[in-house]
Parts: sequence; C-alpha cells; structure tokens
Amino acid sequence: MKFFLGNIIFLFIFACYNYYCLASDALTIGVLFNNNDADEQLPVESVTYANNLIDQRINYTCNAQIISDDDTSEANKKLCEMVNNKTGVAAVFGPPSGHTSAMVESVCAALEIPLIQIYPTKEPFSEYTTINFYPNPKLLAKGIGRIVKSLHWKSFAVLYESDENLVLLQDILKLEKSDSEENASSINLKPLGQGPDYRVVLKDVQDSREVNVILDCSLSTAMRVLRQAKDIGLLEKYYNYFLTSLDAHTMDFESLNANANITTIRIIDIASEDITQIVKNWELTKLHKKKENIHISPYSVTTSKALMYDAIRHFVDSVNALHVTQKIHQEQLSCDDTTKKYENGLRITAYMKIRPPTLSLTNPIKFDDYGRRTNFTLYLVQGFRENVLGYWYPDLGNQFKLNFSANEYQEKIVRDLQAETIRVASRLGAPYLMLKQSPNGDPLEGNARFEGYSMDLISEIAEFLNFKFEFYLVGDGQIGKYDENTKQWNGLMRDILDHKADLAICDLSLTHQRQKVVDFSLPFMSLGISILYKHSEAKSFNMFAFLDPFSTDVWVYTATLYLTVTIVLYFVFRLSPDEWENPHPCDENPEELENIWDIKNCLWLTLGSIMAQGCDLLPKGMSSRTSSAMWWFFSLIMTSSYTANLAAFLTAEKSGPTIESAEDLAAQSKIKYGCMEGGSTQSFFRESTFPTFQKMWLQMVQSQPSVFVDSNPDGLKRVQTSKNSLYAFLMESTQLEYETKTKCDLKQVGQNLDSKFYAIAMPMGSSYVGLINSAVLHLSETNRLQDLKKKWWEEKRNETVCSSKEQVSSSLTLINVGGIFGVLYVGIGIAYFIAFCEFLWNVKNVSVEEHISFKDALKIELKFAFSFWIKRKKTKCPTPSPSSSPSVKSRSKSRSLLRSAGSFFSLNRLNNKE
Ligand code: GLU
Repeated sequence: MKFFLGNIIFLFIFACYNYYCLASDALTIGVLFNNNDADEQLPVESVTYANNLIDQRINYTCNAQIISDDDTSEANKKLCEMVNNKTGVAAVFGPPSGHTSAMVESVCAALEIPLIQIYPTKEPFSEYTTINFYPNPKLLAKGIGRIVKSLHWKSFAVLYESDENLVLLQDILKLEKSDSEENASSINLKPLGQGPDYRVVLKDVQDSREVNVILDCSLSTAMRVLRQAKDIGLLEKYYNYFLTSLDAHTMDFESLNANANITTIRIIDIASEDITQIVKNWELTKLHKKKENIHISPYSVTTSKALMYDAIRHFVDSVNALHVTQKIHQEQLSCDDTTKKYENGLRITAYMKIRPPTLSLTNPIKFDDYGRRTNFTLYLVQGFRENVLGYWYPDLGNQFKLNFSANEYQEKIVRDLQAETIRVASRLGAPYLMLKQSPNGDPLEGNARFEGYSMDLISEIAEFLNFKFEFYLVGDGQIGKYDENTKQWNGLMRDILDHKADLAICDLSLTHQRQKVVDFSLPFMSLGISILYKHSEAKSFNMFAFLDPFSTDVWVYTATLYLTVTIVLYFVFRLSPDEWENPHPCDENPEELENIWDIKNCLWLTLGSIMAQGCDLLPKGMSSRTSSAMWWFFSLIMTSSYTANLAAFLTAEKSGPTIESAEDLAAQSKIKYGCMEGGSTQSFFRESTFPTFQKMWLQMVQSQPSVFVDSNPDGLKRVQTSKNSLYAFLMESTQLEYETKTKCDLKQVGQNLDSKFYAIAMPMGSSYVGLINSAVLHLSETNRLQDLKKKWWEEKRNETVCSSKEQVSSSLTLINVGGIFGVLYVGIGIAYFIAFCEFLWNVKNVSVEEHISFKDALKIELKFAFSFWIKRKKTKCPTPSPSSSPSVKSRSKSRSLLRSAGSFFSLNRLNNKE
C-alpha cells in the first residue's frame, strides 16, 4: 500500500512537472507569401508539423498571409493584423520581394519581432531583428566572379534582364580590368530587353562572333533565351553559356538537345543524403496533412524552398533550445504602439545568429552581426545535373576547388575527342597539301585524296591521340584575312569562326590579330619573312650578253653611223686632191693619178678604227685626215665605253646580287618588291612600326602596277620572269627554302626579317587545345616534326635539287660567253663562204683563160690548194693535157711575161681592159 501510494505521488509529481515544464506552449509564426501555392509553404508546414508531432514543448502554428508584390499598404495592413492578432507572432518570414521588404523590416524592427528573410535585399534595416538566409549578394557576386574567371573565357557577352540584378555581376565585370592583359577578358554587356523575343540580342551576339554568353535572368527567361538561341544556331558546339540563376538545376536542359556547353551554379548540395531525407518528410507531410501522395525529386527543390526550409528549421531549433532555459511566449502587439515590443524577439535573433544549424539544405550557414549570411557553398555544374565541376565558398577567397584532378579532366576530353570525327580544314599548296595521284588512275576518296606535310602532321597527331578526322579544302583557298570594312574573315579563319572546322592546318601563321578570335596550338614550325630574288646568273643565260653594255638603240645608231661615215669618207677622199697619187712612183710625169680609197677600202678603214685595230691604208689629205680623225675620236669613245661597260657587267656577274638586305631594298626604288595579298606577311609590313619596314610598306602600297600577288607561286613566277631582275618577293623562309631547293635561278637574300610560327588553329575555347598541344610537343620531342620537314622538303622532291655549287658559282660559264663564240663561228663561216666563192670565181677565170674545162681547172686548183707543202704558186696553170696548141702556149707565155711586168708597174688595169 505504501509502495502504491509512493507511486501515485511520483506520478502526480511527474505529471505536475510535465504540465509545468513540458506542457506544450503555442507559438505562431507569421509568413508572408506571394501566392496561395507558393513553393515555400511546404517546408514551413513540414517543419512545424514534424516538430509538433515529435517535440511537444512548443506547438507551432503558422499565420500565412498572401501579399502582392507591389502593394505596400496592403502588405502593411496584413502584417499589422498579424502582429495585432490575439496570439501575435514569434517571428515573421518573408516577404518575397524587395518592394515591400523595407516596410516589413521597419515594422519588425520597431516591434523587435525577428524578421527572417530568404531573398536578396539591400543592407539590413535593423541589425538586431533581421536575419537573411540568402547569401550576402556581395559574396555571391564574388563567388560568381571567381567561377567565371575559372572558365578562362577571353571574351564573353553578358545578357542581363534587369539593372537591379547587376550587383551580382559586379565581380564578373571586374574581369575586364584584370591584373595582367593575359587574364583580362573583353566583355560585351547587353540588356536582354523586354522579351519575349530575344532574337535581336542573340543575333547581335552571333554577329559579333562571341561564343561565351552569361545569362543573368530568371530561369524562365533563361529557358526562353536558350530556346531562341537554338533556333538561330547559337546552341551548337563551341558555344558556352553560364547561367547566374541559382535554380538552374530544376530545369531539364537535355530537352533543349543542345550541343553547346551550359554551365550553371547552385547553393544546394543535391548530392547530400540530407536532402533525400528532407524531401521524404515533405512528401509525408503532404500525405498526412493534405492526403496527397506526391513524389518530390531533389532536383526540383528551388533555392527559395531550400532556404525557407533552412530558415524555419533553424528558427524552430533555436526557439526550442531557448525555450528550455527560459520560456518563449508570444505576445499581442500593435503597429500603432511601438513602445510595446516583443519581449523574446532580440533574444531569438541573437541566438539564431550564433547557433550553428543542425540540418540544412544549403550548408554551411553562418551569419555576421548584421544578420547577413557569410557562408555558403557555390557549386559549379556543367552539362548534366550531376556533373559538379567544382565549388567555391567565401573562405576560399580567390581560390576555386575543382572536383576532379587535371588527369580526370584530360581523360574526359580525350573520350569526347575520340567519340567524334574531327573536321580538318586546309588549302592546297606544296609542300603542305597536294592532291595525290592514284597509282592505277582510280579516283581517290576522303583523306586519301591528299598528301603533304599537313596531312602527315594531322595523321601523326590523330594516331597519337587516337581520333578520327576528315580533311576538306576551304572554299576560297585562302588562309584568312580580316576585312576592316565588312568586319569579316575569309578562308580557313572563317571556317574556324563559323565552326565548320574543328582544326585548320596549313602554312597558317600565328598572329596577334588571329589569336584574338581563334585558339592556336603550340607552334609546329618556326620561320621568318625573307626576300626571294633571282640569281644574277640568270642574266648570263643570254647568249648575246656581250651586247648588253650598249642598248639596242646605241647599236643601231653605231651601225648606221658606220655606214654613213664610210660613204662620207669615200666622198671626202675623192674630193681631197692629196688622195690622188701617182700609181707609178718611178714615172715622174704620170699620165694618170690613182685614188686608192674605193668603197671597200673606206669600209676597211672605218671598221679597223672602230675595232681599235687600225688600218694599213691611211689618208693623206687635210680634209680626209680631219674626217678620219673625227671618226677615230668617235670610235675611241665608243670602244672605251663598251670596254668599260663590259667590264662593269662582268664584275656585276661575279660580285653577286645588288641587294643584300631589306635595308638595301628600302633604299632603292628600281627593284620593286611585294608579298602575298591578305597573308600575315602583308599584315607584318602594314602594322610594323620599324622605320625600314614602314618605308617598304609605303613603297609597296604606292607601286603601280600592284606588287601584291594572290599566292606564293604567283610571286615566285613574277620574280623569275621579271625583266632585269626588277622584282623581289617577300615570302616566308620555309616556303622560300622549299622553292629555292629546286628552282636554281632563285635565292634567298639576307636574313629573316622577323620570327614567327605556324600553328594549328581551333575555334575559340576549344577543349581540344590542350590535347593537340601535347601531341605537337610529343612530335617535337621525338623529332618527328624534323623528319616530316625533311621528308617533304628534301626526300619527296621529284625535281632535281640544285647543287650548292651551282647556286654559289660566280665564274662565267661557256653559256655566259657563248654569244661571242657564236659570232666568231658565224664570221668564220661567212669568210669561208666568201673564200669558196672567190675560189670558184678564180677557177672559172682560169678555165676561160687557159681554155680548159671548168672541171679540169677546178681539179688543178683544188689539187694545188690542198698541196700544203707547196709554198709558191705559179702564175700559169699547168695544163692538164699535152694536146694544148702551140698558139695557146705562145699566148700564155707572153701573158705571163706581161703579168710579171704588170705586177711590177701596176698594169692590172691593162689586164682588165684586155
Ligand atoms: N603564312 C601566311 C599566313 O598565314 C601566308 C603567307 C604569307 O603571308 O607570306 O597568312
């Protein structure tokens, strides 16, 4: 009995204790929603329901009010009704928009009611009563800025929906003025406009060839923008989008079927197990309270829902904890009487700020003294929802944590590369790419159509990285020139920019201007601009080079003058009395005088003097000597000039080129020079600030006809065919080396004018850059690049390679002086012909004189002519037959007598008369 009584007393005391200490107190929470089925309602219901069920110290009820965004007076009325209610409110959650938040903050601050916010606001109205679970916008902006920096975009467009949100972009915009130019990004900030049609802005982005876009707008707007981007082809490979919305995980981007890279951020740790448990509770709450059986995916949890959960959970846990030490009551208050404040308000807020949350969806949660949230984790998600690339939290500052190692990332890119057939653009041009001839004449297809350095290079890279590729020729055959007027590129550059090609390989120079719009691999060949010029030997291929010292005009004038002067001299000699001489000096009173200056002798005299050989006949008269002297003077000057000029020509042959360097070219204007139109060589001269190159550029631009050519082969041909080597071509040393190996009339002049590289071009932001770089490095380290160059520059040459001797020889060859030999042969030939004619004429005379047949006379004369040992010739021909008559004999005898006398007394004329 005693035991039973004892038990009864214990139970009574326990019941009293329970009643006093653990009896459920009621607390009302005021919540301001936007609409009836606001997303945030479920977490509030779930947390309070679960708490009321399990921990019965406080029974939470919810006073939810729907307020409209822009009606502050209505919101004020509803809030005041809420606090003025019999039960009052222990805290106010909300409001969801910035328009009414100032009013709500002021009421709560005046009455010291805790105000718990889950939306971004400006600075807190009251540091004592407000706690905001939404990440501090400045920190969030910092995190977004850091994440965008980690994307390494050289340029991007920011499309924003409202100016109010620009605070979130402030750190992104700072990227434009980064510490170094290398890290700085060029930013194109554009408002999205009213919508719903955003195509105009998107078209602008497309026209500006921007591939990186940051969308700062609500999720619904972002989806609309992305759909329209898809329509105009802006959701293709190589386009990158970054969405600033923290709710992007709730959207199924796969439905867009985009090839573009879409990167998003969120603050909810969807991978955590807590979220699964929490959404399960939400489902149970729905089932128990509303009898609705729903399924909630963690990916459907919006940020505001998660933040509301974290806020209410934290509030309930904090109040429950505070309630143990000192009871938390609710009080009826009035907006009109702010002298009466909520007694527990400041205690609750202060405790919530310092107490670490037990369970939350947006871990970690920490507040500063002003109730601003100072800790959270920003996850960077790419493509699929699960693909969390990395994360950032404020304590990381300027760091960014990646979720995977560099190797894992590399492996992923390799997998992507191997899953594709890479399109490689190029253009024809030996030795980089040439059309291949099928051995049996069958038409070739695909990559088999081509051969050359570029083909081998990409084949080696593809083999190293194990990917497939298809080669194609760019439509216009150009490498890539930027047109300032149309603001467009052409050639390979254009195909890369239009994303028609994944790679471009040829003699494509890596230039600053090009690198601004495309990505380049590491260089695979180094080179420089050089001068291609014609070897001076080329001049000596002219057999008649000995004519060069005088121009054709001078030769013609001299020849004409020679004939004219001869005729003039002939007349002067006939007029001059001193030229008429006694033909027989022994005869003191000759009956006749003789003038030796017939036209033949005049020709001989003038020829002898102009040939500087003199003549055995000389004039004697005053006038004739004067005229001859004048001719000799003329001949002296002409011969000396010719000799001097010829010597100069021969010296020029031996001393090599007249230009040795770019300075030499710039210093003269006789030899024209140019380069390939639209290539990097032209850009080099156009943009150079070096005085010599500026001068050269000016000369090139002013030259008429144009000194620019469409291609390297055209330039080369122009050098080869230009008369008197009056054209030099500025071309890249690698190509020059290739051409001068077999075109022996061409040579390089001087050193390279600059130093640059060929590299493989890829669309800006291509993920394959790193892989291609590693392949190029591998080929370089294993000497394969050298081997390939040797193969195409030396081994695979069909033409004969010039011997180095041939190229440097400066001595004159037979060909150089062949013309002079030719003149000699022709002269001798003519002399022989004349001699033969004279011989025949003499034979004919002999046959007539000796009354023998022409044949006999010919035989006798030939026999005599070829009897080389006979030094004297009889004046009379030996008659062939003894049948010669005595009369003939006696006449011949008398003739020979007369002839010998005549030769003594110069009686030739008598002979002739006879
Ligand atoms: N390699 C040059 C380019 O990429 C073309 C040749 C040249 O300009 O000499 O434009």
